[in-house]
Amino acid sequence: MFPSMADAAGRTLGDEEIAAVTRVLRSGMLSSVWGTEVRALEREVADLHGVAYAVAASSGTAALHLAVAAAAPDPGDEIITSPISDFGTVAPILAQNAVPVFADVDPFTGNLDVDAVARAIGPRTRAILAVHLFGAPAPVAELRELADRHGLLLIEDCAQAWLTKLPNGRLAGTAGSIGCLSLQQWKHITCGDGGLTLTDDADLARRMRLFADKGWPRDVGRHHVSFGLNYRMTELAGAVARAQLAKLPKVLADRRRTARRLLDALRDLPVRVPPADVDSHAWWLFPLVLPDGGAPEAAAKLQAAGIPARAGYLQEGLHCAPALTEAPIYGGSRFPLTSPPADREPRYGRGACPVAERMIDETLIVIDWNENYTDDHVDAIADAIRGVFR
Ligand SMILES: *Cc1c(COP(=O)(O)O)cnc(C)c1O
Repeated sequence: MFPSMADAAGRTLGDEEIAAVTRVLRSGMLSSVWGTEVRALEREVADLHGVAYAVAASSGTAALHLAVAAAAPDPGDEIITSPISDFGTVAPILAQNAVPVFADVDPFTGNLDVDAVARAIGPRTRAILAVHLFGAPAPVAELRELADRHGLLLIEDCAQAWLTKLPNGRLAGTAGSIGCLSLQQWKHITCGDGGLTLTDDADLARRMRLFADKGWPRDVGRHHVSFGLNYRMTELAGAVARAQLAKLPKVLADRRRTARRLLDALRDLPVRVPPADVDSHAWWLFPLVLPDGGAPEAAAKLQAAGIPARAGYLQEGLHCAPALTEAPIYGGSRFPLTSPPADREPRYGRGACPVAERMIDETLIVIDWNENYTDDHVDAIADAIRGVFR
């Protein structure tokens, strides 16, 4: 049996988290507006990343919504993002009445292709939202340069990329103007649901904090200075997240150690595993790319051998999700989605991102990864993969 992030054997929840929850309950204060846990979590996460501010939120999607709201697109403005991600990357764009524009990806990492992003920039582009897919560093230095050149904001979705290292030695989430993290059940560390944004910009931090708390600065009296929702994290979640944060370095060390063992075992097989640098990757999942295709058949054989593997990661790219291709968005209306200018490619549906489509349909396999895998687990996975490709 493989430990899974959905059961206790595959999580790092223990006495520390139990003590944290008890501490909060006994204090009588469960709200982060007046409590101390979430404020402390924000400080700890900001310090870990070497940034000035972190703002907690009730989910990773909420954190991304704070970031998009702070980017302040006008209705109908465009935000360029990746077709291979969680829908939580896209929903906040729609929620702010902006238009998600998908740029195609690198065929091995599944991360945004910088040239494709450059081609997708138009007069209404407001921001680039890059995803560090499966924990592999996205080319955020190049994207930052591109964003700066065009006066755009760069947002990093680090939900799968806790402690992912960028080539400059800093952590993912620090190259853009805002980085976003998730604490949902299936991430490296969890408090059930939760999220955080990172930024060095005092104005962006203030706008995100206001958006998370009904536009209420809480300094003098009861007044609302801007539009916002309630995306506050509770003290219970914050206290659990702090206990989990203390365990994060070991979670990553363990995932990297076992990922290296599998990489070594796969060396002479016709699969590709990007990137070469094991210790930069966060190994949220372990991706295998079969350049010649056949991923669905190979994944089925791995599953039959008891390996927690799946082909494609998504059923379809986000650019093909019915939520974007056909469903109403507000009431009966499809606003803010509009047709692209006549000289541009269709935005959604098959054909819009052919590289991503081929990965999902033919070349990508993901294997569930876990910090509690033993060498025996890894060797069983390696044996099964060798069995498929022999
Ligand atoms: C999980 C995830 C999200 C959404 O986070 P939630 O906490 O589930 O709302 C967004 N983007 C990516 C890449 C994710 O993996």
